[in-house]
Amino acid sequence: MRQPLVAGNWKMNGSRASVGELLVGLKAGIGQVTTAEVAVCAPAVFIPAVQAELDGSPIKWGGQDVSVHASGAYTGETAASMLSDFGCHYVIIGHSERRAYHGETDQVVAEKFAAARAAGLVPILCVGETLDEREQGITEDVVGRQLDAVVAHCGIDTVGSGVIAYEPVWAIGTGKTASPQQAQDVHAFIRGRLAAADPAVADGIRVLYGGSMNPKNAAELIAQPDIDGGLIGGASLKADDFLAVCSAANR
Ligand code: PEP
Repeated sequence: MRQPLVAGNWKMNGSRASVGELLVGLKAGIGQVTTAEVAVCAPAVFIPAVQAELDGSPIKWGGQDVSVHASGAYTGETAASMLSDFGCHYVIIGHSERRAYHGETDQVVAEKFAAARAAGLVPILCVGETLDEREQGITEDVVGRQLDAVVAHCGIDTVGSGVIAYEPVWAIGTGKTASPQQAQDVHAFIRGRLAAADPAVADGIRVLYGGSMNPKNAAELIAQPDIDGGLIGGASLKADDFLAVCSAANR
């Protein structure tokens, strides 16, 4: 039985004041609402404050990106060991915004996955097709290629120690959610693709859905057999909304 995971992706949002308020709200509400694992992935600059507030609570925290390099002359980058040093459990890898706006290729994403694991972080690997790719009928080709690159670089066992997030690009931040069946179909494809390499990994790995998941649609999505929780953007910025999604992930 896979324990659901609900992870918030704050993206580049927040201030010291708003982050403080959000964390207090989450801490106050989380005990009563869910048996799912819960995490927040914060902008790097807020991670010390997140650690100070969440240490000792059931909520885990993580980063949104990581360098492929261990340390050195890479201005602006954050090393995986730095995230670990501040208590991060997770790090998002290969988010579509990184792929689209920062030119992250499948190879770079695979190297980031390896760097995260080497520092003991649990990568949340994002995969997903654009609207154009869906309309061309090549969703499985795209998602399969994105997955295969990480399996080829890191090995199936290392991939199995991470989490996958299926995030159709056309559903991210748009208010358009994949239907539960559309999402389930791709999640089943992902599990099948991994099963070809190792059935036990495929069975054990958590595959989250991301893309305009909110308190209204979360329960129906998470009820699908291959959907093991969510990666939540906009709805993770308000404590009540995020807690409602966490509560929909009760099993
Ligand atoms: C995301 O950024 O990973 C995401 C799913 O965003 P949203 O929930 O806002 O669509």
